[in-house]
Amino acid sequence: MTAAVLPLLAGCATAPRTAADAGLHTRLLTLDTHLDTPLHFTRAGWSFADRHSVATDLAQLDIPRMADGNLDGGFFVIYTGQGPLTAEGYANARAFGLRRSDEIDATIVRHADRILPARITADATRITAAGKLVAFKSIENSYPLGEDLGLLAEFHRRGVRMAGPVHSANNQFADSATDKPRWNGLSPLGVRWVAEMNRLGMLIDASHASDAAFDQMLARSKTPLILSHSGSRTLFDHPRNLDDARIRKLAAAGGAICVTSVYLSPMQLGPERAALFAKFEEIGTLSPAEQADLNRRWRALDATDRLWTAEFETFMAALLHVIKVAGVDHVCFGADWDGGGGLSGLEDIAALPKVTARLRAAGYSEADLAKMWSGNVLRLLGKAEAARQVDAR
Ligand SMILES: [Zn+2]
Repeated sequence: MTAAVLPLLAGCATAPRTAADAGLHTRLLTLDTHLDTPLHFTRAGWSFADRHSVATDLAQLDIPRMADGNLDGGFFVIYTGQGPLTAEGYANARAFGLRRSDEIDATIVRHADRILPARITADATRITAAGKLVAFKSIENSYPLGEDLGLLAEFHRRGVRMAGPVHSANNQFADSATDKPRWNGLSPLGVRWVAEMNRLGMLIDASHASDAAFDQMLARSKTPLILSHSGSRTLFDHPRNLDDARIRKLAAAGGAICVTSVYLSPMQLGPERAALFAKFEEIGTLSPAEQADLNRRWRALDATDRLWTAEFETFMAALLHVIKVAGVDHVCFGADWDGGGGLSGLEDIAALPKVTARLRAAGYSEADLAKMWSGNVLRLLGKAEAARQVDAR
């Protein structure tokens, strides 16, 4: 695998962030489609309302830094790691997924003076007009549903509006982009999952699905697909990224790709980082002393062996390429904050105004930026909602 970085647009690399750019970013309604921050919500001694830093406690997003980066909200993820496809595995995953959903709700309720839950497209503008942050919920990996598609309606009832079928290993619904084909796309249950997602009016997230599963979801879904955190295979050849032909097919069907900061370079996941990453995913259960130890070891490893060698400029090159291929009506943002994302120069959510400034310098208008920062995602959510065949709010 090699990373091929397009030449940067002349004059952009050193473009300063002007006051006008900062004002522009502030005016935009900005949403990120994949926030793994809920894994921090249960950390002992940690509050979503406090200002944290990557350097001291690994967290990339909190309420004060959402203000710094003018991020108005996004999709808070119910992520469940893949386990065995057994009755016991399903039961454990179901309990975990429902608990994580409750933890997100409890955190949002606790900070209701600053952030509110969103269930329909119109909530985003209503909540931001009230001066508060917007919290949608999504599912990464539908493994917790087991073989009971009725549970999808239960998650919908709890406010979940976007879901992806699969994560980094094949499951009961689909092949993963990072596993050997088992179903050659969707399983028979996965075909029914797509229909149920459409029936409930939920947005289908194809990030992490194999190429064949993507193709089949695109062909079967009655509403456009989103990729909540994916990138370009032309810029970096990795199965988690989409080739240009598929990006064009996605756009032609009305969908959108939310550009991520991961898989812009090889993932340096040696044994030491893998062990730390496993601990990181359980950070919500660690004592403050264990959290501090994890942070110390993570940062020490960063000094010699960063998870990603890609940096801000690599991200911008990928973003500009995806915009060129997909068009401004089919691009959005999902950097994978708190889920392995973040790069040198794009360390946390506070860096977002830099992205807007660079896109402005590259010639994109305020209207273009408004689409990419939230308009496209809300259009897709609206289409999913409009197609739903059940009464629900
Ligand atoms: Zn992911």
